[in-house]
Amino acid sequence: MEELELITSSEDDARSVAKCLVDVGCCPRCVLRFMGEKRPHIYKKTIEQASDVVRQLCQTENNTSFSGVSKPCPACLGILQDFSCKEFFIKIKEQVDEEGYQFTDYLCSLMVPICTQPRQHAVFIHLKTEFSEIYKSVKEDNISSIKDIWKWFAGPELALLLGIDFQQKSDFEICITFIYDNSDKECGFLLNAQPEVFRKRKCKRYGFETFTRASVAKALMEIDEDKFKRFFHCPPAIPDSICRYEITCCHEAVYIAGRYQKFSRILSQTPWIVDGGRKSESSVQELICESILDRFKPTDHKFSASGREDVDVRMLGTGRPFIVELVNPHVVMFSPEELKTIQEKINMSTSDVAVQDLQIISREETSNLKEGEIDKTKSYCALCCSEKPLSQEDLNKLHDIKNLTLQQKTPIRVLHRRPLAVRERVIHEMRTEKVDDHRFKLYLSTQAGTYIKEFVHGDFGRTNPHLSTLLGTDCDIVQLDVESVNVEWPPRLAR
Ligand SMILES: [Zn+2]
Repeated sequence: MEELELITSSEDDARSVAKCLVDVGCCPRCVLRFMGEKRPHIYKKTIEQASDVVRQLCQTENNTSFSGVSKPCPACLGILQDFSCKEFFIKIKEQVDEEGYQFTDYLCSLMVPICTQPRQHAVFIHLKTEFSEIYKSVKEDNISSIKDIWKWFAGPELALLLGIDFQQKSDFEICITFIYDNSDKECGFLLNAQPEVFRKRKCKRYGFETFTRASVAKALMEIDEDKFKRFFHCPPAIPDSICRYEITCCHEAVYIAGRYQKFSRILSQTPWIVDGGRKSESSVQELICESILDRFKPTDHKFSASGREDVDVRMLGTGRPFIVELVNPHVVMFSPEELKTIQEKINMSTSDVAVQDLQIISREETSNLKEGEIDKTKSYCALCCSEKPLSQEDLNKLHDIKNLTLQQKTPIRVLHRRPLAVRERVIHEMRTEKVDDHRFKLYLSTQAGTYIKEFVHGDFGRTNPHLSTLLGTDCDIVQLDVESVNVEWPPRLAR
């Protein structure tokens, strides 16, 4: 038999402690952990092998029955018995398979019922009472936790079943939550015993949030032993039932960036919904996202772009940068060629929108989208009309104006969703091209965020100066195109 590293080197002492723990109802793994064994490999044994080890410790024949065989362990509530065996790991694998996630490694997180904390404390106090000499210098946090032992055993077993490695850090997480229905009830005594720890939380609704791992640990650390014994069974009672469990999987968000052009004058950037009713058939967001969602299969998604254009404004040139955040995607591995195929699919599905430079980016890179929004320049082409006829010479006056600062009061058309304010924006350059006596094209390069329509018609004097004052005749805007959003991100890809 392999040498164990226990809190006592005396065989007689070890036998007494082991027998005591078996009498209390502890499962073999809990016997070993309460006796101070904390080397992972000792726990990489089947429950039968661990039982043999404990039987030898007790120096009894094979007829020693562990209450764990029929009743759950009062310390781990069965987590280190029924839920630390191959049958359970197979159930985990089946569930993971069923959810259809794509992953190359995984991390496993375990949530154990909070009442295992007072239960463990009760076992420990019982041992200290019965074996004061042996346990006098042992601290409770020297005892390996249920979580650690479960992972030591389950980690390699599960990795073998799933065929991939168990990691400390991974984008894919398998979360196993053990639920014990009486957990809050069993912790309830702490509210009376240590009210100061829970004072702040007491006003919140009872139950769900009352007992946290940290607050229960604090209360147990502060409560003195005699007081604890008055409130809690030492050793802890055999539980009526074992835990239930839930297995959930989730994948970190994946981010996709690209640029879009919009050729329609009746398409909004995001779904246009008023009072629950659709105001437009589709949107840039929906046209782009449909094919992406179809492949990545996320549970949710968020679309964001570097600024927005009005429904009736086209977005031309190199397009507008955007990001799609895919929340909890099931499929995540795509080669650049496959992304190109998705891009082609989007572009085949509509003539209103075209996407380019579609790529997967990191979470850190997403901040680039908003950074470019304020400082970068944007270029527009506005088709304007004037009350008086204008010659190209009249229009040329605008070409000499550089870096014109505008004072823009929040436009009337957006007042319902933006606060009233005056903001300064700069028009860097203007160029014109006469179409006929009353119509001309105005090319502008401006600071991001300039209200172009208002600059042209003046918005009842709310934008100053405006085009009418510069040309000496009333002007209005017929059509507007965004020619470029000069953000050098995301990186351009070969087409
Ligand atoms: Zn146990």
